[in-house]
Amino acid sequence: MSVLERITSKDAIALEEKHGAHNYHPLPVVLSRGEGVYVWDVEGNKYYDFLSAYSAVNQGHCHPKIVGAMVNQAETLTLTSRAFYNDRLGPYEKYVTETFGFDKLLPMNTGAEAVETALKLCRKWAYEKKGIPENEAQIIVCENNFHGRTTTIISFSNDPVARKNFGPYTEGFVKIAYDNIEALKEALEGGTNIAGFLVEPIQGEAGVYVPSDNYLKEAKALCEAHNVLFIADEVQTGIARTGRLLATCGNCSCIDKHCSGTPEVKPDILILGKALSGGAYPVSAVLANDAIMGVIRPGNHGSTFGGNPIAAAVGMAALEVVKEEELAQNAFELGVLFRDELNKFIPNCSVVKSVRGKGLLNAILINDAEESSTAWDICMALKENGLLAKPTHGNIIRFAPPLVMNREQLLDCISIITMTLAQFEK
Ligand SMILES: *Cc1c(COP(=O)(O)O)cnc(C)c1O
Repeated sequence: MSVLERITSKDAIALEEKHGAHNYHPLPVVLSRGEGVYVWDVEGNKYYDFLSAYSAVNQGHCHPKIVGAMVNQAETLTLTSRAFYNDRLGPYEKYVTETFGFDKLLPMNTGAEAVETALKLCRKWAYEKKGIPENEAQIIVCENNFHGRTTTIISFSNDPVARKNFGPYTEGFVKIAYDNIEALKEALEGGTNIAGFLVEPIQGEAGVYVPSDNYLKEAKALCEAHNVLFIADEVQTGIARTGRLLATCGNCSCIDKHCSGTPEVKPDILILGKALSGGAYPVSAVLANDAIMGVIRPGNHGSTFGGNPIAAAVGMAALEVVKEEELAQNAFELGVLFRDELNKFIPNCSVVKSVRGKGLLNAILINDAEESSTAWDICMALKENGLLAKPTHGNIIRFAPPLVMNREQLLDCISIITMTLAQFEK
């Protein structure tokens, strides 16, 4: 399209309003270009991206190495289906399993598909290895979870908007409070036929809820004691977002200096998505060791696009970028700076109650009711001031910029954020 033919923001929004299903409520900004930590709207206004497509774009917009791998592969071979082998999948699986320290990988496309895959894997393991009677397996999940939008996944959501009028729901889930080790203990000791525990290391959509220090470690130990699979959904927290390669950063060949000395949790099943492709392409994966993944046999599970050559090439390039550019370390250091600076500002600000997070997955809690429009209004003002963020759960604003940000850019963003918040002082 030439510049003259370019659609205006107003027209683009009107077209979506008229012809698209209304399953999202976007901030009114129409983006047409991205590079690194920046995006531009159709009118040419430049913004810092502080959402990173829900942490899919950790490596920055249009990273040349990732785009290069994608274009190169797209010109060579795009899709074979798994009816035949392709020359990219094996090397990719080797690279990813070695990076995260697992025997096997099962490739899928979206996060929700990978969560579904992990649940099926856990159930099959329960029947064939643990000896749970058929159709009796229970999987423990946490309140306020977010694992995606499929029928099974929303069956164990407690968000009424995601659930209502989508029943009947899939059975076999036990819901307990998050970050409550006693609740897990009770569910494991009191429950029968428990197969797995599905958990987000930090609850992202719930408002960047960081559990207490030893929660994951203790939860893993409890699961082990009960022969229950610990399933970590790192779709949002993984791939350097929280200042380590994984938020559960376990027994992996982790490239991150800050890993040692912190609690190590090695999930039995690891779910990755989002930044596994750097936001270039839908790529997700489930990782597990042979004792678990071995229950999956031909015909049990699959996807036409899962493990396609473009996904494999893109996934490999995206992980290489994380290592080469030391993004985990950068996220760790900038995260400390971000929270330090906001913590200096918050005592003199009545609009914000607190800041929380890990690495570059952070949120501020707005000092207003969940139903109030304040967080939305602040995001609209941030947009006017050149920074894009979105409220999650009404009165919480998540801040998750691409991890390729530098210190100077982050300081610039902090001044945009504090200056904008100051506009809301009464
Ligand atoms: C985004 C997300 C998912 C779902 O991923 P999709 O690609 O949107 O299906 C699952 N789990 C967590 C923790 C997520 O943040």
